[in-house]
Amino acid sequence: MTRQKIVAGNWKMNGSKESILSLVNGLLEMKNANSEVVVSPSFPYLSMVSELIGESDLVLAAQNVSDKEQGAHTGEVSALMLSELGVKYVLIGHSERRSLYAETDAFIASKAKALLAAGLTPMLCIGETLQEREAEQTFAVCIRQIQAVIDVIGIDAFNNVVIAYEPVWAIGTGLSASADQAQEVHQEIRAFLAQSSLSVSQKVQILYGGSVKASTSAALFEMPDVDGALVGGASLDAKEFIAIVKAAG
Ligand code: PEP
Repeated sequence: MTRQKIVAGNWKMNGSKESILSLVNGLLEMKNANSEVVVSPSFPYLSMVSELIGESDLVLAAQNVSDKEQGAHTGEVSALMLSELGVKYVLIGHSERRSLYAETDAFIASKAKALLAAGLTPMLCIGETLQEREAEQTFAVCIRQIQAVIDVIGIDAFNNVVIAYEPVWAIGTGLSASADQAQEVHQEIRAFLAQSSLSVSQKVQILYGGSVKASTSAALFEMPDVDGALVGGASLDAKEFIAIVKAAG
């Protein structure tokens, strides 16, 4: 089955009005991308970026969401609010949120549920720490993180979920997984999903994330189960990000 590639930039808590304007203008110069190209600014810039990208092919993502629908949740942002801003994807389960903000598998699953209820697509980040990899727990960790979401939303809802495999040891470290290492895990994830639904396993897009650069991306994108990339640091540089998009075909 051919799956469209997605190249998504996770800008994290970076940027200012000025730098984001210049970054988006740089990205808008990109022509004929075959992949879906996604940008995810911090909340305060979503509205501005939504207007800047207008009717272009760039797609908007957010970096977080509340699992609650509305009400007395000071400081939180609901899925419906994001949907009104033109957001399509929302990152959930990013390792920084799991480790720095103690987000649990169950909490992440409830965010997935809230997103789907508002018609948004969760981009579910999963991945093992270095210690877990060394203990040969990579697949067990990834599968546990996915199963927690399946338990809440069901396997069929994964027709509307994107998975981003991001080994924690590769995020922001400059130490990317090799294309073979990524393929091995992506294949395992797909095989796991196939146990519950063959069609979901064939349809679901699995992105790789972790120090992706233009120079490493071509080999990753050649892998049959790598359907794109979630890019942190390198997505803040329009030229580098565009080169990654081009490598995706
Ligand atoms: C990320 O934060 O999702 C990420 C993959 O970051 P980096 O590309 O900088 O490793």
